Amino acid sequence: MIVGAGPAGLTAAATLAAAGAGRVEVLERDPAPGGVPRHCAHGGFGAALLPWRPLDGPEYARNLADAAVRAGASIRTGVTATGWPAEGPGPAAWEPGRPEERVASPAESLTLDVTGPGGLERITARAVLLATGARERPRSARLVPGARAAGVLTAGELQQSVNLYRMRGDAIGRRAVVVGAGPVAPHAARTLRDAGLEVVARVTEGQPPSTYRRGLTTDRVPVPLLAWTTVTGLVGQGRITGVTVRHRGGRTGTLACDTVVFTDDWIPHHELARAGGVALDPATRGPVADGAFRTSVPGVFAAGNVLRGIESAAVAAREGRDAAYAVLRHLAGAPWPSRTVPLVVEPPLLWVSPNRIDAPLARRPFLLRPAEPLGLPVLVAVQDGRLLLRTRRLTALDPSRSVRIAPHWAHAVDPEGGPVVLRTR
Ligand SMILES: Cc1cc2nc3c(=O)[nH]c(=O)nc-3n(C[C@H](O)[C@H](O)[C@H](O)COP(=O)(O)OP(=O)(O)OC[C@H]3O[C@@H](n4cnc5c(N)ncnc54)[C@H](O)[C@@H]3O)c2cc1C
Repeated sequence: MIVGAGPAGLTAAATLAAAGAGRVEVLERDPAPGGVPRHCAHGGFGAALLPWRPLDGPEYARNLADAAVRAGASIRTGVTATGWPAEGPGPAAWEPGRPEERVASPAESLTLDVTGPGGLERITARAVLLATGARERPRSARLVPGARAAGVLTAGELQQSVNLYRMRGDAIGRRAVVVGAGPVAPHAARTLRDAGLEVVARVTEGQPPSTYRRGLTTDRVPVPLLAWTTVTGLVGQGRITGVTVRHRGGRTGTLACDTVVFTDDWIPHHELARAGGVALDPATRGPVADGAFRTSVPGVFAAGNVLRGIESAAVAAREGRDAAYAVLRHLAGAPWPSRTVPLVVEPPLLWVSPNRIDAPLARRPFLLRPAEPLGLPVLVAVQDGRLLLRTRRLTALDPSRSVRIAPHWAHAVDPEGGPVVLRTR
């Protein structure tokens, strides 16, 4: 059973069904499959899969869904997995940062409560793949003060309003500010422009994104970028009339606007995982998982953005495919490891995924994200004082992009040892 019909879940479903894994069912709470690409009208999807023609989001989503159905998977839309029965899928014995024995629970106990057009249902599976994606943290979670006025959106809400519900112009607003410097911010600015709004500025707390610095912005019409600038509050009652900002050095000001779109700051959709006692990683805020996408609960896998927030759709799809192979091995009787070694990062590194090491299976590259720009850092990995990796990055690290770390060194991890620490030197 797969929860979430985005690129990760649909690719996993196609792979599992094509491999003859038995009944493969995908649950999707939206009225149609496809996940986030379904409401991204711009091109740029699937480049890694179809190098000759990157697709727009809806076309890419349709292709993935068609491939899953053709392979024999069934996709049930309008169906939300709400939780696990009281006994849960099994105890969570992995604690972040602490190696521990796990108590195996039989895969047969993997039962989910779901709700859909047919009412409440209870579904039991031999394996569950969580592919529930991620969302941007809303203004409230970012603790931006000000009245609870209309006109405050995340980029995801904006994309849905414009591309799914066809809202235009005044129905959204007239003058907008986009907050964030990640890869989604230019898409938000473009969506606002296409919907007829003026984009006053993009605001980022840090330095300009590397694409700007290298003159590679993907904005069709460049938007003024205010770097080193923090949004300190929202002004207005009923509808916002501006955002207050503080620039580096302490200067303050107000940008007049009636719409503000928050981008970046992703949080995995981890509610279902948490409800099932699946251990979460404090750095990624997604399920703790090893290189075979196995979580702390035997029989429960996780892939795609639920693991750590946003990457490209191609990364999510690739993870879905690789997770399917791991599920197949599990269904064929491969043992669930009773112990894996935690992989933790130290600042200025932000997170790493996977964040558990099962040394014999350490074949998957690690994705690493820094919290701040780092110019050509030396990365080291240490376990119990033993140096496992020392490598100089040949490119700078940027907080809006992950880098891949080859996994060869992870084979030297002592499976009985303490946590592996990844840091810069
Ligand atoms: C504005 C924007 C622009 C982007 N542009 C690009 C681009 O140009 N190129 C690119 O490669 N990538 C792009 N991305 C990134 C890409 O969309 C994501 O990486 C990809 O969609 C992640 O796939 P996923 O399967 O992990 O999650 P998602 O696509 O988020 O899918 C998860 C699915 O799970 C469902 N779900 C969640 N919880 C439940 C539940 N409890 N029960 C049932 N269903 C549930 C959700 O409804 C959703 O459909 C963009 C993202 C955004 C937000």
